[in-house]
This record gives sequence, structure tokens and C-alpha cells, in this order.
Amino acid sequence: MSATASQAEFAELVATRRDLHAHPELAFAEHRTAALVAERLRSLGYEVRTGVGRTGVVGVLSGTAGGADRTGERRERTVLLRADMDALPIQEASEVAYRSTFPGAMHACGHDAHVAIGLGVARRLAASRGRWRGTVKLAFQPAEEGGNGAEAMIQDGVLEAPAVDAAFGLHVMNTLPTGTIAATPGAIMGAVDDFTIRITGKGGHAAMPHLAVDPVLAAAHVVTALQSLVSRGTDPFDHLVVSVTQIRAGDAFNVIPESAELRGTVRSMGGRTHDEAPERLTALASSVAGGLGCTAAVDYRRLTPATINDEAMTALVARLAGEVVGATHVLSGSRMLGGEDFAFFLQRIPGCFAWVGSANAVKGYDAPHHSPRFDIDEEAMLIGVELLERVALEYLR
Ligand SMILES: [Zn+2]
Ligand SMILES: [Zn+2]
Repeated sequence: MSATASQAEFAELVATRRDLHAHPELAFAEHRTAALVAERLRSLGYEVRTGVGRTGVVGVLSGTAGGADRTGERRERTVLLRADMDALPIQEASEVAYRSTFPGAMHACGHDAHVAIGLGVARRLAASRGRWRGTVKLAFQPAEEGGNGAEAMIQDGVLEAPAVDAAFGLHVMNTLPTGTIAATPGAIMGAVDDFTIRITGKGGHAAMPHLAVDPVLAAAHVVTALQSLVSRGTDPFDHLVVSVTQIRAGDAFNVIPESAELRGTVRSMGGRTHDEAPERLTALASSVAGGLGCTAAVDYRRLTPATINDEAMTALVARLAGEVVGATHVLSGSRMLGGEDFAFFLQRIPGCFAWVGSANAVKGYDAPHHSPRFDIDEEAMLIGVELLERVALEYLR
């Protein structure tokens, strides 16, 4: 590709990303984004389905290399590439020209870049259609941020007709410098569980605690005791996080309330630690509260499973990532306990979720994800396009 062509391509990636950045839409409300995506895909010749998983968009394109249909030779493969589209309920604090124009919403995780990358790959694959065979399915997904939009798309048939053989996705990553790619085999991101613990005692006068049963004291002990699940109850080489993030109790300084409520999240990488977490947390909360004369009712929910990369698909991505950024800039041990609903695709079909470094401290792009000052080094988008295009074509080859 000529320098001018790649400059034009980069300019389009930036323009698309900045347009989306200025118009961020929250989970399952990505209407403008979905319309933009559908329109672009149609203009590139993709067969487009909208409303997949409520606001999701799917673009399907088959390669035409070799001319006439060769069905019967061998079943040709279908590869799914996924880009999430949703923004976060955050007020943007940056003063950049392309800052959010929608109050209270912001692309603070980089999903605007994912959509731009997805459309960039769509353009390249459409242009090279005569040189490859098989089918590419581009899934522009709603509601990654806590809404499990991936599951909604799967329920609406994104993995069928044609059946998908492998799935790939990426996330721009501000913990890694631009020019690095992480492709880690196995469990890379955490299972997300959430819990509510309602502790009930007996309300009364703050000055006469002996006539009441104090749920606030019990709640405080439960918060402390829950950390022992990690520090004393889990193999130090295993992964577990328990975070109590909300405490609600009482309406007055001089009243012992009737009850107290704790909310929080448990993160793990699957396996026994994951399987046993609900039972262990419930037993501990109940016994600690019980020892202080209270009862604990625990509501424990599984939200998203661990993201587990297939070994062979990850090796494929790592090899191609080396072609894009150089083998020494490909990382193979990057993990975190944040959740990612690409996990739902990986539960059903082999694939790999890669991280594309997007931090550039010199340019000032190093704010963490979900920060009101989040921004990325846009050069990372070209790397993302290069990677996903190569992965799709190599898988289909
Ligand atoms: Zn996020
Ligand atoms: Zn994200």
C-alpha cells in the first residue's frame, strides 16, 4: 500500500473514531453508532443485519477468490471479528476538540476506537475480496460494559447462519505502550460475580445498644472477614479478588438501624476458586453475622465468565502480531481480573482476545480506562486494523 493510501486510511480511522467519541452512546442505546456502522458496511458491499442483540449490527462478506462457488471441495470457514460499541456513564473531563457532546456519557474505555478499527478492517477485506475465500462476520456489539451484549447477540443467532468457526477481538489498552500487542493463552480476564448481603439485627436507641442488635457492627465485621477468603482461604498461586464497594445502613446518628446492606464484586479466573466462591462467601457472612446476633441474606449472581483464550488461536494471533509490531513487542503473559463479555463467544467457539497497546505517556495518552480523562494514542488503531485483517485472512486461508 502506498504511503498516501495509508495516510488516507489513517485519516479515516481518526475521523471515524473522533466522530464516535463526540457522540458516545450508553449500553443498548447505541442507535446513532449502529446506524453509522450499518450504513458504512452496506456501502462496502456487506450483507447487513441490524437489531442483533437489540442494538448490535452484523456485517457478512464472503471472499470470491477462485471465481465460481467451490462448495463440496471442503466446507469453507467463517471467522467472526468483534468490536464493542458502547460508552460509559462518565462526564468527560478532557478539553479535546472531539470531546463528548452528550452530557454524562463518554467513550472512556476505547470502544470508539474498536468500532473505527472494525470498519477499517471491513474496508480492507472488501477491497481484497477477490483474493480470499470463506466468510467474514463482523459483529458490532452493544453493551459490553456490564450489559453482556455479547450474550444478547449470541441469543439472537450471531454465531449461526453461517456457523462461526473462530472468533477474534481486541481491546486497546492504556496499560501497554503503543507498538505492543498482548496475546496471552488461557484465562486472561476475570469472571465477574456480584453480591448483596443484607444483614438484619434489631433496631433501637443508639444509647441503649444492649436492647438492640446492631447490624452496622456486624456489617463492619463481615467486610473485614470477607478479605480472609482471599488471604487465608485461597491458594496464593490462585487468583481471587473480593471488593465490598457499597455500604448502606441507617438514617439517623442516634438510631441503631434494623438492617445494613453490603454490595460488592468477586473476581476470579475460573476453576475451583470460582466454583466455590458463592458458598464460601455466604457461609462466612452468615456465620460472622450470626455470631453477633444478626442474620445475613446473601444474593450472589454470576455476571460474566472468565475470558479464556484458545491456545492454538492465541498462537496464531501472537505470530501475526509479531509481523505487525515485531516479535519482541508481543507479550504473552498479560492478564487482569477486569471482566470482558467476549468471554461468552470464547465459551462456545475457539478464539483469542488480544490487547493492543494504546498508551503514549509522551503525548499524554496514559490515563487509565474509565477515567474522565481517558484518551488513546490513535496510532494504535492502524496496528489493530493490521492485526485483525491478518488474523482473519490467515484463519480463512
Ligand atoms: Zn471498560
Ligand atoms: Zn472496554
